[in-house]
Amino acid sequence: MPRFAERAYNFSPGPAVLPLPVLEKVQKELLNYRECGASILEISHRSKDFLPILDETQQLFRQLTQLPDNYRLLFFSGGAQMQFSAVPLNLLSRSASNRASYAVTGKWGELALEEGKRYGSAEEWMHGREDRYNRIPNVQAEDLERLKGSAYLHLTSNNTLYGTQWNHFPQTGEVPLVIDATSDILSREVDFSQFGLVYASLQKNLGPAGLTLVVVRDDLLGHHLPQTPKLLQYQAIDSQNSLNNTINVFAVYVMRYVLEWYEEQGGVAAMEKQNRQKAKLLYDYLDESDFFLTSVNPPDRSLVNVIFNLPTTELLQQFLQECEEVGLLALKGHREVGGVRASLYNALPLTAVERLVEKMRDFERKALT
Ligand code: PMP
Repeated sequence: MPRFAERAYNFSPGPAVLPLPVLEKVQKELLNYRECGASILEISHRSKDFLPILDETQQLFRQLTQLPDNYRLLFFSGGAQMQFSAVPLNLLSRSASNRASYAVTGKWGELALEEGKRYGSAEEWMHGREDRYNRIPNVQAEDLERLKGSAYLHLTSNNTLYGTQWNHFPQTGEVPLVIDATSDILSREVDFSQFGLVYASLQKNLGPAGLTLVVVRDDLLGHHLPQTPKLLQYQAIDSQNSLNNTINVFAVYVMRYVLEWYEEQGGVAAMEKQNRQKAKLLYDYLDESDFFLTSVNPPDRSLVNVIFNLPTTELLQQFLQECEEVGLLALKGHREVGGVRASLYNALPLTAVERLVEKMRDFERKALT
């Protein structure tokens, strides 16, 4: 494994690259947070130094997303996968028969559905399994009709492993739309008022690992099944502003600086613009090349996880190794999918993708001569 004197280009799918100015601020403040005499890692989650951080983080998120006032912002421990349980536990009772619908467009959707089945009749509504999840299903009026009576529709907005993304969300009417936005939250402009609930663990576009943000419309609070653990009840967490137990203070603190940095860059619109530039650069090259191949259906291509492959396993291994050597890190595809995965989250600079494309050109030229 090569070692680097300087920071390299980090294409990790998560925990992912953070903005350098944020890391520098954290480093500068780490020993003595704003002269409070202790590190942020050493102070109470109820202290007067931390409470404004929590408040500012929530305010910044509201500003960045233009979140309507009837949505609450909650923090949960346990990662996005904990919400695979929390969502059915809190929402299933909205349907008389505890029925919920799931769009399964990848591994995370499969796992969410499996967890939903523990608590009620969670059903697969649509899937994109043919051709190894390389497309998003086409939703027709009769599919929407089938949702009637469901407690909610759950879908994964971006499929981190397979590199597909929903470009338009189904109009589900009365049935609340629940989105796992773990890998694309704040990467593009989205109207939150179309969702009943959105959740995302922090470690891709929001901060370090350790917490999950839940954005929930207030009429969806208070419907939990009786067996729901207290710390998974949306209403209970809301009533104590996520301070029911010791929150991960450090993760919230870093998230505040990440959101501040997004604001300084021009907000979500600026993030989206840059993400589109990065993705275009890479997809244009993939479209031009007969050597690097991607089988993702073009209209469903993810802006943030670009999946491709090489003609043989040997060439793939060699490519990944050469990338590591020149400081293009963490490009290996997920173990269930193989190939290459370039994760292009908000904090990854355009130059990283320029370097990657240069490397691909160079590798292709050498391989073909
Ligand atoms: N959903 C999606 C879309 C993801 O990408 C991931 C993690 N890569 C998860 C859920 C699981 O997240 P966690 O590890 O925070 O449980």
